[in-house]
Amino acid sequence: MRRFFANKFSRPLLRLLTVFSIFLLTPSECLSKSLTTNEEKTMPPTRNEIPTDKKWNVEALYSTPHSWTEELAKAKGQETAPRWPELKSFQGRLGDPRAMTQFMDRYLSLDRMLTKLGTYAHLRLDEDLGNDEFKRNFGLILGLSHDFRLETAWLEPEILSLSDAEVARLMQEPSLKNYRFYFERILTMRPHTLSSDKEELLALAGKALDSSSKAFQALNNVDLQFDPAVDSAGKEHPLTNGTYSTYIHSPDRALRKSTLINLHRGFLSHANTLCELLQGKVQAHAFNAKARQFPNSVTAALFDKKIDPAVIRQLISTVRRGKGMMEDYLALRKKVLQVDAIHAYDLMAPLVHAVDRKMSYEQACETVIASVAPLGADYQANLRKGLLEDRWVDPFENARKRSGAYSSGCYDSMPYILMNFHGTLADTMTLAHEAGHSMHSYLSRKHQPYIYSDYSIFVAEVASTFNEQLLMDHLMEGAKTKEEKAYLISDQIDRIRGTLFRQTLFAEFELKIHELAEQGQPLTPSLLNQIYATLLRDYYGSQFAIDPEIEVEWARIPHFYSNFYVYQYATGVSAAMALHSQVTKSTKARDKYLAFLSSGGSKYPLDLLKEAGVDMTTASPVEAALKRFEYLLGELKKNL
Ligand SMILES: [Zn+2]
Repeated sequence: MRRFFANKFSRPLLRLLTVFSIFLLTPSECLSKSLTTNEEKTMPPTRNEIPTDKKWNVEALYSTPHSWTEELAKAKGQETAPRWPELKSFQGRLGDPRAMTQFMDRYLSLDRMLTKLGTYAHLRLDEDLGNDEFKRNFGLILGLSHDFRLETAWLEPEILSLSDAEVARLMQEPSLKNYRFYFERILTMRPHTLSSDKEELLALAGKALDSSSKAFQALNNVDLQFDPAVDSAGKEHPLTNGTYSTYIHSPDRALRKSTLINLHRGFLSHANTLCELLQGKVQAHAFNAKARQFPNSVTAALFDKKIDPAVIRQLISTVRRGKGMMEDYLALRKKVLQVDAIHAYDLMAPLVHAVDRKMSYEQACETVIASVAPLGADYQANLRKGLLEDRWVDPFENARKRSGAYSSGCYDSMPYILMNFHGTLADTMTLAHEAGHSMHSYLSRKHQPYIYSDYSIFVAEVASTFNEQLLMDHLMEGAKTKEEKAYLISDQIDRIRGTLFRQTLFAEFELKIHELAEQGQPLTPSLLNQIYATLLRDYYGSQFAIDPEIEVEWARIPHFYSNFYVYQYATGVSAAMALHSQVTKSTKARDKYLAFLSSGGSKYPLDLLKEAGVDMTTASPVEAALKRFEYLLGELKKNL
């Protein structure tokens, strides 16, 4: 899932909370992307060679680039700061309900217009990353959005500084009824907000304290070079972070081994630098937490979502109980792959020969549409219309198009989907995944006012993973051979390993290094390697052989630079599995799930999930996911 703006709701709160961060690395990019493999490629056509009816319908957003430019001219206000003096004129007056009502109307309509402009600009740019006009337009809207944030940065401090009597008046004002939850969320920050001079100081320090993230990105994306990977025939393959995810799935063990070893050796040769960078980030989190009087970094990071750190601890202890299942699975891997031990480079090797029934894009759409039948006729009809009539999707690759897949859009647009469809099962699974996000966005936008139309990252992967499971059920019903079934099941098991087990392991690592730093313990490469290796043993068990190179895997995970982020993949997949087992059995559960999909960000994420039928403060959703893993493992054994 991608958004032009970060969640409009949590954006300002996030800014208050994590003054020192945050350029999230691929913040809401779907994890499933890394699970798809690239095909051998022929030269893709140019954008113009693709017929209009095979592209997404961006014209529904702005009929021509000219109409975008016209709206931009309307939105951009004055040429120099303050661009929007009328917004500034409300500063100091928001305690008055009438002024607040007028301000919020103006503020949100401008925010909405800028988001719409930004959505169009990023979609067009992603169609052709080399197009200078699109690059320029995207730059323009980014700059304008930056100005908008700067010129409205006073809003939350002002709300936080209101007297109790003023807050009470705002909360009772009928014209502000829709904003009550919004105000409430801001006001929860009161105990952790400092005096204005201290806030200013923290804001000034923010950029400097963010340098370790930027340095990591530069090292990881640009500077780091790796020795080529070598396949079993002795042929060399250029190794990058991008090709890594392709080669690591290869049936050729020599290629996989050399891919994993050479990539990690690249990181190992910079282990001291990478350790200092990560330490810098962890220290920034700890400083922020301390400055704002939180007991620790994890509490500070989860506070604005009203999530207790106990949720992460419970996730960890529950997933750890699945170690036996993981050992069982790895033993099966060992047997099928006929190897003496499972190394990290064997985890993603295909267990079953790809029985890929190649599908056309239209067949993939029909399959995905058929698979969502358990969600009811309305849901199915809306998805059908979106995929086949309204052209939500930009399915095919063209020269210079953005790689991977995402669902994106805004309140005034379709929930667009970008893909690079080549007809494999993985591509159809990606379509189901992104369609899950898009239907969540579609329903939330339809049922919520603008301010609550975006859902939080915590719940974002629920709808996508849910639809992956529906597709899996549907394909299993239609599978004709044992091999086909085994292929599908194996794919699902690998997805659960990648999200539930692996991301929980990451979450535990993250928690541990923050705790150590807060106790004053310096982080060194050997300490981090040792913690990481211990976790690998704890999660993967006795069947897993740990090569020295894999101990440094912590050094290459971009998400460790996003403050307590990874656990949400594991909680998301758990919630989706728990809901899937309920919804497929009862129409009442289905209706609750549909209500959840329609609720956007109108409540705290744990409250929304609870109403949908899963209580993430208990162990049972994660247990349901483990049960599903165990069940699939049993099915895999039967079908291999
Ligand atoms: Zn996703």
